Amino acid sequence: MMNSSVITIGDELLIGQTIDTNSAFIGQEFNKIGLWVRRRVAVGDNYDEIWKALDEESKESDIIIITGGLGPTADDITKPLLCDYFGGKMIVNEKVLAHVHHLFKNVFNRPGPMPESNLKQAEVPNCCTILHNETGTAPGMLFKKNGKVFISLPGVPHEMKWLIINEVIPYLLKEFKMPAIVHRTVLTVGQGESHIAALLKDFESTLPTHIKLAYLPNYGMVKLRLTTFGTDKEQTEKEVEPYFKKLQETVKDFLVTNEDEGLEVVVGNILKSKNKTMGTAESCTGGYIAHLITSVAGSSAYFNGSVVSYSNSVKENVLGVQTKTIERYGAVSEETVKEMAAGAIRTLGVDYAVAVSGIMGPDGGSEEKPVGAVWVAVGCTAKTETLKLNLRFDRKRNISLTATYALNFLRKFILKNETDVF
Ligand code: ATP
Ligand code: MG
Repeated sequence: MMNSSVITIGDELLIGQTIDTNSAFIGQEFNKIGLWVRRRVAVGDNYDEIWKALDEESKESDIIIITGGLGPTADDITKPLLCDYFGGKMIVNEKVLAHVHHLFKNVFNRPGPMPESNLKQAEVPNCCTILHNETGTAPGMLFKKNGKVFISLPGVPHEMKWLIINEVIPYLLKEFKMPAIVHRTVLTVGQGESHIAALLKDFESTLPTHIKLAYLPNYGMVKLRLTTFGTDKEQTEKEVEPYFKKLQETVKDFLVTNEDEGLEVVVGNILKSKNKTMGTAESCTGGYIAHLITSVAGSSAYFNGSVVSYSNSVKENVLGVQTKTIERYGAVSEETVKEMAAGAIRTLGVDYAVAVSGIMGPDGGSEEKPVGAVWVAVGCTAKTETLKLNLRFDRKRNISLTATYALNFLRKFILKNETDVF
């Protein structure tokens, strides 16, 4: 298998001002085409350090990707360094120059003349192949040395992504033979990683060494992914299939989907296939469930809206929760969320509604209703079901978990009660 390294450049990465998301993205994209990232290295804007990293990584990697430090500012030293490293000299590339002018004139729409420093973007080492950067002024640059390929990309994440997808991946697929890689993924909700691992112990021991099982946990969910490499795509897929079936069977009680997709996508697809609509009534999640649902393109087909009923007055005036219900049972209670769900179905004109009310912390808890106490209701016009959560984390995590469990509760409710709605 071919090897690669990713070198990310910038002092901001070392002091934690910028989180290095570039190498995560590159890792994901390379993994898809069967190119192994054997090492990721972050270095500062420092000539010697970058030089050393290039020497070091090219010892064992076939492909070295470098991001950052290409800009026109003084701290960006990657370009002259690469020119020295590969023994070239800087020349103006007319095509890049025309592109820089075009961006300033027709795309960026900034007032005043173009700052002189941007002309420097068109200066490139004469020993590289230019990778056209549709989205910005700094082009990608490809160098070859001792049979190794070095590709330098801008640090700006959206520019780097554009170049990886449109220039780098097509180039690599054309130049090198990559193995067939097969991923099969399931999503489970509602069970912790260690419990799932215990369930899968026997299954894991039956896996051949070239089929790997990965656990990808995330607030209330665990994704499980089988990965294998082969020479022929179809044959590799066939080989994984029985193991993938067994995996689904083993975690069936928590299984949400056998595709690589999120819970919000799954809920949306179920609603779409049944031609039904939903809405949310959210107190403690402040619209986060609605945000998750609407982060899916095309959600307008099944999502009508949300009432963020954070205060009691909104619960009463907009959703029609009775004052005496809140007085008697409190805002965080089974009775209140039931009325919130019923109110959402009426007010939003939907087939299904999910309602949540809880105490997310760090303050606001009491002995009777501690931080992390949450009531969830899901319903259609014919019936309502409720669920009590007892979470024990910080505010952010409590909100995420509430949204995950509420969406999963809604998913199960719709699948179970499909005949109740007309
Ligand atoms: P430009 O041509 O726009 O100046 P550049 O190649 O010089 O780009 P940098 O100046 O190093 O890139 O970084 C540009 C922006 O991209 C900065 O906001 C930086 O924080 C961000 N950035 C750089 N490297 C990474 C990375 N590895 N992950 C995420 N963001 C990054
Ligand atoms: Mg920089």
